[in-house]
Amino acid sequence: MKTPDKASRLNLLAIEGAFAVAAAARALELSGREVIHLELGQPDFPTPSHATSAGVTALQADDAKYTAPAGLPELRQALVQYARGRGIPAELDNIVVTSAAKPMLQYALLAAVNPGDEVLIPTTGFPIYPSAVRLAGGIEKHYSIHLTPDGWRLDWDAIERQLSPRTRAIVLNSPHNPTGWTATREDVERIGRIATQHNLWVISDEIYSGLAYDYADGQSPSAAAVPGLLDRTIIIDGFSKRWSMTGWRLGFGIVPKALFTDLVALVINNTSCAPPFIQRGGLAAASGSQDVVHRLRKSLHERRDRFVAGLNAVPGIRCAMPSGAFYAFADIRELLKTSGLDTITFQSRLLQEFGVAGCPGTDFGPSGEGFIRFSFATAAPKLDRAIALLNAAAKQFAT
Ligand code: PMP
Repeated sequence: MKTPDKASRLNLLAIEGAFAVAAAARALELSGREVIHLELGQPDFPTPSHATSAGVTALQADDAKYTAPAGLPELRQALVQYARGRGIPAELDNIVVTSAAKPMLQYALLAAVNPGDEVLIPTTGFPIYPSAVRLAGGIEKHYSIHLTPDGWRLDWDAIERQLSPRTRAIVLNSPHNPTGWTATREDVERIGRIATQHNLWVISDEIYSGLAYDYADGQSPSAAAVPGLLDRTIIIDGFSKRWSMTGWRLGFGIVPKALFTDLVALVINNTSCAPPFIQRGGLAAASGSQDVVHRLRKSLHERRDRFVAGLNAVPGIRCAMPSGAFYAFADIRELLKTSGLDTITFQSRLLQEFGVAGCPGTDFGPSGEGFIRFSFATAAPKLDRAIALLNAAAKQFAT
């Protein structure tokens, strides 16, 4: 029997390849094979125990009814303090709580972009940016985060080249997934000057902001901390990374006051509110001891140094030091040349034959060809084992 056609907008959606790699890895494990998981972007640290207790206590007290769409006032107040700690002059009506960072990203684009407007996004980059831009009716324009002899750099000329009278917004992601590039204070100020001059919204994905290794406090500079920029900056942030709470699906925006009511309307249209017991867990994480975050950052810093050194000793692999987040975006072009493999085949054979799961760079755009992303947010012995297996794979593929 004939059924209705699917909506054409479904063709606009990208997916995150990491989930497909994770599924393939799980299938291998079910067949009895051992896999080292370096594909998904999630720390192996547990949820902070005070956050778990607060969530469980709230659930037992049946704190499980609809609540304020913008988020619990106590949580929003804690996030005001968090923002101020990062130098952002936020007040209560700059904070919107959402069910994870991803919906906040979509809301930001729906709020900022009209059909036909152009939006600058980083490439290589998080695949959900082009998806979210297209779903909002926008047109994606790319600027690169590219590899130089001094490491990953933003291509400022590309931004200048791509600007047009139709440009409405620029998406910034610092620290950056997948390269680990982290904007300096001068960088965010420069973005601010461009945005002000061309009257753009800045959509700044700062989900990895607590994990910047070049800063003593681990905090990367925020776009909204640049004087005057909060009024045109929508920060995407959440509990997944620095608080190790990926499955809680709790996020937030630090947003211009002028967009607050509209963004809350988008929450009302989608989820009504984030679950209150989940928000209680988030409140405990954000307002309680930050020792866990400090320990996570210290551990990630050590793992980064160890893993990247290991990668650079594998024949045919080079890896620039990521200055933030927890990904090594390894350059495997030399290895591909000697083995005659392409990126996807290399990634798939590395998983199937050696049990190491990573994401092909092409998941982050065509310029990711020749790269593979490994998360180093896992225990050092597993990272060491992955390096040993990579050495074995490099040897086998090259012959
Ligand atoms: N932005 C970036 C750059 C990410 O890497 C991720 C998670 N992979 C997200 C946003 C989504 O975070 P959340 O789990 O809060 O939806």
